[in-house]
Amino acid sequence: MRCDLKRRFLLLYATQKGQAKAIAEEIWQQADAHGLEADLHCISEMDKYNLETEKDPVVIVISTTGTGDPPDTARKFVKKIQDTTLPPDHFAHLQYGLLGLGDSEYTFFCNGGKTVDRRLQELGAQHFYNTGLADDCVGLELVVDPWIDGLWLALKEAFLSQKEKEGMSSNAISSTPSAAPHVGQELNLSSEVQNMKLEDGVRSSDVLTQKLADIHLVASTRETEPSLVHSIPPVSQSALNIPALPPEYIEVQFQDTHGENPHLSSLISEGTTFEVPVTKAVQLTREDAIKTALLLELDIADTVFDYQPGDAFCVICPNNVSEVEELLHILGLSEKAEYFVSVKVKQGTKKKGAAHPQHIPERSTLKFILTWCLEIRAVPKKAFLRALVECTSDAGEKRRLQELCSRQGASDYTRFIRDSNVCLLDLLHAFPSCKPSLNLLIEHLPKLQARSYSVSSSNLYQPGKLWFVFNIVEFPASPARPVSRKGVCTGWLADLVAPLLHLNKNTLDTEGGSSSTEKISIFARPNNTFHLPADPSVPFVMVGPGTGISPFIGFLQHRQKLREEHTDWEFGETWLFFGCRHQDRDYLFKQLRCFLENGTLTHLKVCFSRDSSTAEQTPPKYVQDVIRLYSKEVARVLLKERGYFYVCGDKKHMADAVNDAVVDILSMEMETDKLEAMKILAMLREAKRYLQDVWS
Ligand code: FAD
Repeated sequence: MRCDLKRRFLLLYATQKGQAKAIAEEIWQQADAHGLEADLHCISEMDKYNLETEKDPVVIVISTTGTGDPPDTARKFVKKIQDTTLPPDHFAHLQYGLLGLGDSEYTFFCNGGKTVDRRLQELGAQHFYNTGLADDCVGLELVVDPWIDGLWLALKEAFLSQKEKEGMSSNAISSTPSAAPHVGQELNLSSEVQNMKLEDGVRSSDVLTQKLADIHLVASTRETEPSLVHSIPPVSQSALNIPALPPEYIEVQFQDTHGENPHLSSLISEGTTFEVPVTKAVQLTREDAIKTALLLELDIADTVFDYQPGDAFCVICPNNVSEVEELLHILGLSEKAEYFVSVKVKQGTKKKGAAHPQHIPERSTLKFILTWCLEIRAVPKKAFLRALVECTSDAGEKRRLQELCSRQGASDYTRFIRDSNVCLLDLLHAFPSCKPSLNLLIEHLPKLQARSYSVSSSNLYQPGKLWFVFNIVEFPASPARPVSRKGVCTGWLADLVAPLLHLNKNTLDTEGGSSSTEKISIFARPNNTFHLPADPSVPFVMVGPGTGISPFIGFLQHRQKLREEHTDWEFGETWLFFGCRHQDRDYLFKQLRCFLENGTLTHLKVCFSRDSSTAEQTPPKYVQDVIRLYSKEVARVLLKERGYFYVCGDKKHMADAVNDAVVDILSMEMETDKLEAMKILAMLREAKRYLQDVWS
């Protein structure tokens, strides 16, 4: 409920996977303790706010998706502000602060936020606080936490200048008698102290000065190295500033065992889901390859699911069965696995805006929730660790959990939790006296996301079939994780198709099917520009090492069919740069030769990064090295013939290296400096002629 004594600001979030929303909610929550009131809305709820008339400061938290796009929820908003007829003073009245979220492993880091920021500036809006750009690659919290800490002072100054502008004395702020001094006091507090405030405003007793002697788990004289469960000085001896205990807000009641779980389609808000049989599974790599790549074929003939080559789609995947059982066991809830539970918001909870989590069905079994709804592998956030402290009975374990969520233990958190990809189960093993309740898991574990895959076929070439290719992700055992694990989705798919794989090993013919009854649920992933040029006479270059080859198989199948069907059409030249480790072990599609032989593919250039060579001149190892050998041709296709350039695959190293190679090529062939070449590449991206589809 709105409290009129508090200063108000508008708080908008644009989220794709929920992170921007969670951060906005955190700001909303903290605002209260600073005597402020945040009017919180999803940026898509354009009927609930109006920037054209907004007088109060505006705070925007916005993530980035795809290849530098704002999230889907911001699409309408961005379209609206990008209206070129808007005058340059359209938002001259607006003061705002923007926090962008992104991942620097992608080329267009934080581009969603940057796009909105740039446009608001062009339309005359003023920053009341510096833009923050948080990087998921190193940990969002490294920027998010200090940005939120500084926000309160910036807001206070924004309110003061707003009042001054309105011709009122700065004292006028005390027209909110109780709020004004409160705000002043709060904003002068150090960020550490702010974070120690408890919900009810009572000073936390969480500044801990426990002595080393009290600590059970802290390093013994022999243990001088810190680890997930051991700390060393100074952390082990510090007084700790730990976050406020997040108020519990979920209540779980066990009901009966009668009834059916909801259909998986009810878990998805992004569109229609299709349950389709897996009709073929082929292992594309040899047993001795470092990674195992599988190709799966889905039968979509009996559905209205449609796709174009280059599209991606999503697979709804469950958590690993034995991990779910283990979790049930540790929670002491194995007996209740098949019980239906009702999940409700706790009456009288102190959590602001507490709502039923959208990804938890109104009625489903406990096992269903742990299997299909919660990302149990998620790296626990500091707030979750803070909550786990309260469910831990051993004093030493308690202290270590406190350290890991404290400011003093920030680098331990990054090293032993975030960078080690520790999940809840790992924590529960490492801290055996920690026995969280089910409601805590529902409150803190994020939604289990469907995984995206690029389509590796053409509906024209093989109607009713959809291919996709993936590497089985493997995480080796480590000190924090006694067992090795496979990726949630790729591990599940690999197990699911294991019997089928046996039948089809090393055959890639598209004829016939198998008698598999295994089905998976998929849905379309819209908004992809990664498609073949509309004009078939336009030449294009494809760069796809490893599983990055996947969408190009679809491109080539499609192109082959078009060539067969339209012998009178003109078709542009096609280039494919492919690379893998070993020619014998992980050359995923040796059938590429067929495309070359029938003229669908004009140039095929391959390289093998781990094969030794007896040639006098060492052959190039990576696709970017091969591309450089064909500088003239690449420049001709891109510049003279207005061709397209597609890059697909590993975002970490390959996409940037290819980008650099193209900049060098443009610079060399146009005899211009690097900066100019970068501008040309930016123009090509803008014109959607340099297209990337990259993933980790
Ligand atoms: P997850 O369990 O989600 O783990 C994946 C990542 O999480 C790891 O890379 C790592 O960073 C981290 N991680 C989680 N747990 C640990 C741990 N214990 N130790 C270390 N790291 C950990 N992939 C393909 O193979 N083929 C494709 O065609 C393809 N197309 C894509 C298209 C798009 C548009 C996008 C966004 C992604 C695409 N991907 C593709 C990636 C794919 O969606 C999945 O991310 C990938 O298959 C891994 O999923 P998973 O559930 O098996 O792994």
